[in-house]
Amino acid sequence: MTDLLDETELDSYRDRFAAHLSQTVPGRKEFVVGSASGCTLTDAGGRDYLDMTSGIAVANVGHSHPEVVAAIQRQAARYTHVNVYGRFVVPEQVEIVERITGVTGPGMDVAYLTSSGAESTECALKLARKYTGRPKFVAMERAYHGRTLGALSVSWREEWRKPFEPLLPEVVFVPFDDLEAAAAAIDERTAAVIVEPIQGEGGIRVPSDDYLPGLRRLTREKGALLIVDEVQGGMGRSGRWFAHQNWDVEPDIITMAKAVGGGLPLGAVISTPEIFATFIDPPLSHLTTMGGNPLSCAAGIAAFDVMVRENLVEASATKGEYLRGRLGELRAEFPEAMVDIRGKGLWCAFEVAGDANVVARAMQERGVLVGSVLNSSGTVRVTPPLVVTEAEIDRFVEVLRTVLADGIG
Ligand code: PLP
Repeated sequence: MTDLLDETELDSYRDRFAAHLSQTVPGRKEFVVGSASGCTLTDAGGRDYLDMTSGIAVANVGHSHPEVVAAIQRQAARYTHVNVYGRFVVPEQVEIVERITGVTGPGMDVAYLTSSGAESTECALKLARKYTGRPKFVAMERAYHGRTLGALSVSWREEWRKPFEPLLPEVVFVPFDDLEAAAAAIDERTAAVIVEPIQGEGGIRVPSDDYLPGLRRLTREKGALLIVDEVQGGMGRSGRWFAHQNWDVEPDIITMAKAVGGGLPLGAVISTPEIFATFIDPPLSHLTTMGGNPLSCAAGIAAFDVMVRENLVEASATKGEYLRGRLGELRAEFPEAMVDIRGKGLWCAFEVAGDANVVARAMQERGVLVGSVLNSSGTVRVTPPLVVTEAEIDRFVEVLRTVLADGIG
């Protein structure tokens, strides 16, 4: 890591951040980042924190995994960006797509590479519209798919959509995990239903077992597509490679980003050759300069290979059980403060009777980082790197115990 900063230097960074970068996330930032490794984040003053957030489900193989770092260094020395418009084969793009399509369902063989989750959503919406020739989308209450105009159109919070209207003209929101409401909304004008198999920013909400298969049946009946948003839940987070694989359902389009790039910006949209063929006429119906950047792909390949070799998908399932078990002990101890525990794998959350940010701040003061979510104020997000150890989970639980014992009101 770089040299430690003294208090004056730390304050200078805080002030300069406030001057130039603070307009989208208000409030003064105290934590100046120094370095990160595995499950540890170290601030620029030299204090270590146990990271139970993974930078919101990005650092699935841990921060700065040595193999990811080495792959980035090798690739940077070879080439970074070359060109788009199809005159070049970038081997790193082929390698990452082969790996990803090897763990998605049958027939999901074609990819479009992006740099972020919102970009993946944009691609999926355009793909569904062009393939079906239909205008309408059905989306979920509490859903989050990103902040670009198309993605915002299918994201739930009214106060975030309203100032930017008109958005996409035909989007119907229905309650998550309500098949009757979905059935009433899906019709012959519907291009696609877009759904997070487990809602992330909505509060790590796991639907009932018949929900995704039900959506699959309803969309097929009406000739609409099923888009599953795996941006947050993909790459082993839920204890399967992709969250929808917890149920027996084959979607038409899968969007992903976050952990795919091993910490670098990379996303993907995966679908069938038949559906993607719609982008060939006219040629270049959808394009971006930096999507599938070779450096990001190299990092993603290394991260993927670490996931496989270290069995991190299975580890996510078993450690998630352990984590929820330990949280269950705390819930029994503090039933009035902790009112619910949810999740699958290491995609985990607990609900407090109060503001999740109060808990997150108190935990941070005691050296542990947890998060809140955008669309559920009492939800504390617990999404550690999949390499987290039981000892680290125990440490997190002990710190949380002290916070709950002190009271969160
Ligand atoms: N979809 C889901 C489910 C997400 O959780 C997010 C971000 O949190 C996005 C899409 C948007 O991704 P990005 O922030 O990379 O644009």
